[in-house]
Formats: sequence, structure tokens, C-alpha cells
Amino acid sequence: MPLACIGIGSNQGDPPAQLATALKHLQALPHSQLDRVSRPHRSPPWPPDNPVQQADFLNAVAGLQTTLAPDDLLARLQQIEQQMGRVRRQKWGPRTIDLDILCYGQHRRNSPHLQLPHPHFHRRAFVLQPLAELYPDLRIAGHPVTSWLTRLHRPQPKDDPAPPPSSTSPPTRTTIASSPKPCSPPAATAAMTPR
Ligand code: AMP
Repeated sequence: MPLACIGIGSNQGDPPAQLATALKHLQALPHSQLDRVSRPHRSPPWPPDNPVQQADFLNAVAGLQTTLAPDDLLARLQQIEQQMGRVRRQKWGPRTIDLDILCYGQHRRNSPHLQLPHPHFHRRAFVLQPLAELYPDLRIAGHPVTSWLTRLHRPQPKDDPAPPPSSTSPPTRTTIASSPKPCSPPAATAAMTPR
């Protein structure tokens, strides 16, 4: 069964409870099995120059083994966001819940409504750190997740833009992001025993 990695984030309402509820929804998805769940990580709003004043995010990553096709999975995740009361008001704004497909096996897609792997996965420590903890051998866009993480933390000149994740060259540089801080797990996360 393909492994889809799902990014979960929340910074409005009761983020620990919302992460737990989102995990319950993921667990209930048809043709799918929740494999691993990371600890929650607290991180500042992204991108680093985000103009919207808002609270820190609570983020986690879940690995889902699924035979839902990528488009069906995205539709299900959007359904969960709606059920949980997400309203899309502002780009980069606060949100009750945000669910992204970070990667779906080795699938690559670049359609307007679905990009795989997720277009920003390689620039977000709150994605790469939990992914590397959960699946140290995972490869995304042709490179080990651990190299993407190393690359993220490496200092770089300002005028050196990050290549797109579809690049086949080895990851060497990208935008620096502050490291997320692990925090105590919400009830449902703890119950699922992240490996
Ligand atoms: P966001 O507001 O960050 O949740 O972005 C949601 C939009 O990104 C939706 O319109 C999706 O169709 C689109 N999108 C593109 N690629 C992905 C992906 N890998 N995972 C989730 N949403 C995606």
C-alpha cells in the first residue's frame, strides 16, 4: 500500500484537541491505515516573514498507508477540514486545522489543485524534522528526508534561491527555518504510540 505522509497544523481554538480530532478522522478514513504519528511540535507561523500576527502553530505528521488515489485523499482531507470548521480567510493566516499531503509514495504531480510532493515540504522544519524521526529511510523527490533536513539547517547566501523540490540535483541549500519544539502529545497522539 502506498505511504502518504500528512502534515497537520493548527493555531486557533484548542490546537491540541484539534490535532487529536484530526488524527481520529485520519484513522477512520476508508481503504487506509494510520501507520505512525509524530509528537506534536510547536513552531512559529510560516513563512518566517509572515505578515499576519497570529499564535504559534502546533504541528504533527502522520504516515497513512492508503489505497485512496491522491485526488481522493486530498478531497477527504478537505472534507475533514470543513467538518472541523476550517474557514479559508487569509493566505498564511491562522487556522483551526490544516491538512496537507506532504508526499504520496514517490508520486510526482504538478496540477493546480494538487502538487506532490508538497511544494514547500523542503522549506519547513516542522515537516522535515517529524518526517525524519518517523521515517528516517524515507526518500522524497529523489533524496533522503535526512538530507533535506540537513540542507534546511545549513547557512546559505541570501541570493541563492531554493531549487524546486522536483530538482534531481542533490539537496544542498534552502531557506533557513527555525526548528520546531517538541511538546507533550495530545491524548489521541499518545494513544497511537508514535514509533
Ligand atoms: P492551504 O490553504 O495551505 O491548505 O492550501 C490549500 C490549497 O492547496 C488547496 O487549494 C489544494 O488544492 C492545494 N494543494 C496543492 N497541493 C497540495 C497538497 N500536496 N496538499 C494539500 N493541498 C494542496
